[in-house]
Amino acid sequence: MSENKLTYQRTNFYDNATEADIKAAYDYCVGYCEYMDNSKTEREAVKTTVALAEANGYKPYAFGDKIKAGDKLYYNNRGRNIYLFRIGSESINNGVRIVASHIDSPRLDFKQSPIYEEGGFCFAKTHYYGGVRKYQWVATPLALHGTVAKKDGTTVDIKIGDEAGDPVFYINDLLPHLAKDQNSKPLGQAIPAESLNIVLGSRPLADTEESNKVKMNILTILNEKYGIDEEDFLSADIFVVPADNSHDVGFDRSLISAYGHDDKVCAYPSLTALFESDDSVHTAMVVLADKEEIGSEGNTGMQCALFTDLLGAITEELGGNLYAVKANSKCLSADVNACFDPNFAGVFEAMNSAKINCGITMSKYTGSGGKGGTNDAPAEYIAWIRKIFEEYGVVWQAAELGKADQGGGGTVAKYIAKHNIETVDLGVAVISMHAPYELVSKTDVYTAHKAFYAFLKA
Ligand code: MN
Ligand code: MN
Repeated sequence: MSENKLTYQRTNFYDNATEADIKAAYDYCVGYCEYMDNSKTEREAVKTTVALAEANGYKPYAFGDKIKAGDKLYYNNRGRNIYLFRIGSESINNGVRIVASHIDSPRLDFKQSPIYEEGGFCFAKTHYYGGVRKYQWVATPLALHGTVAKKDGTTVDIKIGDEAGDPVFYINDLLPHLAKDQNSKPLGQAIPAESLNIVLGSRPLADTEESNKVKMNILTILNEKYGIDEEDFLSADIFVVPADNSHDVGFDRSLISAYGHDDKVCAYPSLTALFESDDSVHTAMVVLADKEEIGSEGNTGMQCALFTDLLGAITEELGGNLYAVKANSKCLSADVNACFDPNFAGVFEAMNSAKINCGITMSKYTGSGGKGGTNDAPAEYIAWIRKIFEEYGVVWQAAELGKADQGGGGTVAKYIAKHNIETVDLGVAVISMHAPYELVSKTDVYTAHKAFYAFLKA
């Protein structure tokens, strides 16, 4: 037997790709970037997804609705989490093919009483959401996206900072000339959370005897523009996100920078794979979850009973047995992994780290320390996935997140596996994960689509 039959080496997408394959990958990412630019928050991602779903024949589902084979349905959970499902022709007791990703990303949230004036500026106080590296959010253009819910039951959407001609928002950083004390602090302490205050303006309201004239002017503008007052911030979800949109990166345009690749780089391919696999016999479910970045909590997170409620409702309508459905279902927990970064090679174990352009990354386990807090997927399930990826020509690689004992991370996998559903982590490798601008490879994004398609179809 020759050596290359015995040894294993991951494949670089470009090694075996034709010009047409590469063009297909790059063309695919045009749609991805469009999705990204319209989906900076989970609420926006749900809206964008509903529009895509309806364009592909999906209809809203409510508990109690009749369900039959061939139906294409979606359940919009409070505008922040969405489930899409397509009923296959085979028995529901054969299980459901589930691809679950998340559409929330690390960011800064307005506090409930955010607005104050100090030193001639009007600021908004924030509380960071998820694994934010605070030093990355200062001295960079920011946008405000959110929803204000008023006592009369109406809501007002805010989205400002992204369009040409919009003002942006800003967090002050310290000048190097006066940074002697700050420079000697550990990176994680250099920018305290309570200094992440957003500059809203500096112009005082004219012709008034009131104090806090700059704040009064901002409140006046907010009232004129959105019909809201300071008290309305008590019931608001206002998110601070990077103002810039996605970009091709590099002279060869092989990479994409954007806010929130984690985890829309898996969410979007799960949608396109679902829409393309209409002729599959299997019942498919695509989950776009909220609140993964803060532990999958709450009624829009993956830990919510809605997931099994929907499985139960579908099963009941089709005359199946929920225990059998769960036992026979298969899931891809579709979330990003860390891409090997030569600038920080020391934190990676090269043999078991994802490499750029080497396809979608499977992680048998995540967690930290001695595999703490992970769904460690069984060998048999991974073998089945190896087989179907080979059949469908999916370029993929296996990796864990960095060196053992260097840190770690979790995904929604364990919250799905605990329902007696076979689950493994599969996602796109990301450079600068959780930074305001993350980097991915176009061919890796495309292999996510190919992988999810194979999984939903095979
Ligand atoms: Mn993630
Ligand atoms: Mn994350």
